[in-house]
Parts: sequence; structure tokens; C-alpha cells
Amino acid sequence: MSNVMCFSAVNTSFKRVFQAFFVFISLIPLQACAQTDFQPIELTAIPKIIHEEYRPETVTIASREYDIPPLWQGKRIYPATDTASRLQLVPRRFVVNQGQIYLREDACNALTAMAESAEKDGVLLLIDSGYRSIWYQKKIYQRKIVRGKTFEEIAKFVAPPGYSEHSLGCAADFSPSNWRFAGTVMYRWLQENGGRFGFVETYPKNNPGGEPWEASHWCYHPLQSEDGADNPR
Ligand SMILES: [Zn+2]
Repeated sequence: MSNVMCFSAVNTSFKRVFQAFFVFISLIPLQACAQTDFQPIELTAIPKIIHEEYRPETVTIASREYDIPPLWQGKRIYPATDTASRLQLVPRRFVVNQGQIYLREDACNALTAMAESAEKDGVLLLIDSGYRSIWYQKKIYQRKIVRGKTFEEIAKFVAPPGYSEHSLGCAADFSPSNWRFAGTVMYRWLQENGGRFGFVETYPKNNPGGEPWEASHWCYHPLQSEDGADNPR
């Protein structure tokens, strides 16, 4: 046997060994999958987490998408699906111009009891806004945008659609619903007594969230005792 033939035979043997080795390697993962109870990862769960944490917050008004300003980011509000079906008409004598305003039934009852109590103290509490759907909040923005205001300018004073407590049906704006309210006897009465009826000033002066002071905006938070039952009022 010449050296050339001998080399050729060895070379062929090596090739076979390598081929067998790679076939063996390529089968390992398949065997591993077959032997373990392999469950594919639920891919839908991963994008959901990313969606919640990293998706930039925006709102679409009249087909245009606006970025939510930093002040409101992370403060999106999610109304309960049955909110609209739980709305109740606020007694007209506690509404500016005896208008038609709705609040969630528990907030409405608490507001009525509170306004009646204030009445006995000689203070007339009137509201000029209650439940506002996200759709309605968009309309408010749209009107202001048409008049020339920018989205950012409006968001300094009005919660963007999807960020307003009014969509929960528990928030009410007392009249006059502007900075003047802070100087009224109604505001002082609410500061002293609102808490007894479950009403909280959401954006007080120098609030830690950095939101502008909104003295006329109060939200109802159900009063609960330690065992979770509603407190009698
Ligand atoms: Zn308000």
C-alpha cells in the first residue's frame, strides 16, 4: 500500500467519524424535547408586559395622536366597566342652573347628604360638573384645540382624556369651578366637613404629585370601617 492510498483511507475514516458525530449532535436537542414535557412559552404574555411598562403614553383626539405630558404619565385611570350603568342624577337643586349632572350612585348619595348638611349650616354647595366619559373629555380638548390652544397648554389645567377622575363618576367640580373657589365659604366648609362624607380634595395646594391646585375638584372615596363594611352616614 502506497503512502497516498494509506492517507486516503485514513481520510475517509475521519470523514465517517465526523459525519456520525454531527448526526449524533444534531439529534440531541430533539431527544431532549421529546423526553421532557416541553411547553412552548406563551408569547402573548411577554408583549403585554412590555406594552404596559414601555409603550409611550399617548391619546388620540380627532385622528391625531398626542403625547401625554410628563405630569400625567403613569396616572392613567381605568373606570369600571359598569360605571355608566351605575350613574344617578344629582338633585337639581345642588346643580348650577339646576342642570342635569350624573354621578355614580354611591357618590351621588354622599354628595346629596353632604350638600343637605351644608345647607343646614347656611352654605349652598352647587356643582357644575360630575361624570364625564373619556369621549366627552376628548370633546373638551377638541374644542380648546380648535380655539388655538396646544395639547400641552390644556393639559396644565385639564386632565387628558383617560386621566380624569370624572370618568369614574365619583368626582364633582363645585361652583365656581376656578381659582376663585379657594376663597369661598363653600371651600372652607368642604375642608372642614368633606371628609365626613367621603369627599377628598384631589389636587390640594402644593400637592406631592405636582398637579396644579384645583380647589373646586373633590372626589368621593367610599368610607369603610376596618372590617371593610360601609360606614353608616
Ligand atoms: Zn374636576
